[in-house]
Amino acid sequence: MMRYRLFALMLLAAGQGAASDARAQDLGTLNPKALPPLANPGDARLPAKQVFGRARAPAAMPAHVYGFYSKGCIAGARPLPLDGPDWQVMRPSRNRFWGHPVLLAFLERLAAHVKQTTHWPGLLIGDMAQPRGGPMLNGHASHQLGLDADVWLRPMPNRRLTREERETQPSQMIVRDDRLDVDPRVWTPDVMGAIEAAAKDRQVERIFVNAAIKKAICRDARGDRSWLTKVRPMWGHDYHFHIRLACPPGETACEVQAPIPGSGDGCDASLTHWFANGIIHPRPSPTPPRPKPPITMAQMPAQCRAVAAAPGQQIGER
Ligand SMILES: [Zn+2]
Repeated sequence: MMRYRLFALMLLAAGQGAASDARAQDLGTLNPKALPPLANPGDARLPAKQVFGRARAPAAMPAHVYGFYSKGCIAGARPLPLDGPDWQVMRPSRNRFWGHPVLLAFLERLAAHVKQTTHWPGLLIGDMAQPRGGPMLNGHASHQLGLDADVWLRPMPNRRLTREERETQPSQMIVRDDRLDVDPRVWTPDVMGAIEAAAKDRQVERIFVNAAIKKAICRDARGDRSWLTKVRPMWGHDYHFHIRLACPPGETACEVQAPIPGSGDGCDASLTHWFANGIIHPRPSPTPPRPKPPITMAQMPAQCRAVAAAPGQQIGER
């Protein structure tokens, strides 16, 4: 078992290169640098990502989520152990292995199920949430409630990866170079099996995959196709898939997402549309769009300002 203390230093990293677009393929680091502290962290005009991106420990409060997947936070988040019986956490220096207890229980269940039903020895887990959720300095719009998790589209190896390997090893690109379909050399029944296992879990509300992966699933799924409804095409998501859990029972401040339109398998014109030229190869606009102003602390749910200000919970060795 890798010990939590090993990573104490790495937790100093709230982000490496705030300007970079941090995706699962981005490299982590063994020597993360702490961001300089904010002069006035209680200022409600601050971009929320500057506050939540600096949190190194969860708020010492009972586990609860507040707000929406792309504008919210979590109190009392728990860390997913970096090593489980059938999973390993990748890029731990990003400090995004936190989640609601239902997400941790789900990932444990999913990893065991995938090991039983595919040839994969287990799962490689990518980004979940920051210790207090909230917006991130780079990488994701959602993942703010501790109810989203990225799973790599590459099997866990049969051995424990070293710290350095976890920061540097790439995932597996599943989409073909022309973006129109999957790469048949790496698209296997086991890759689809991992996605299917997640989609069939009752706690799972949506799964995001690249449109080319959805297209392959539409072609290859046999028998019960009811799980295809939850698998939604999305840009990116070509070397990991994104799992979103529903608001857990009793989480009354968790904003429920609008239901998926229609109940079909999503293998219709709504999917074909993704392969239209302007969508798959978007033409750059002559005038670059003005970047959206970041969400400020004042715009976050009120409970999230309390979560941000709360004392940190000491998490012992795992
Ligand atoms: Zn994601």
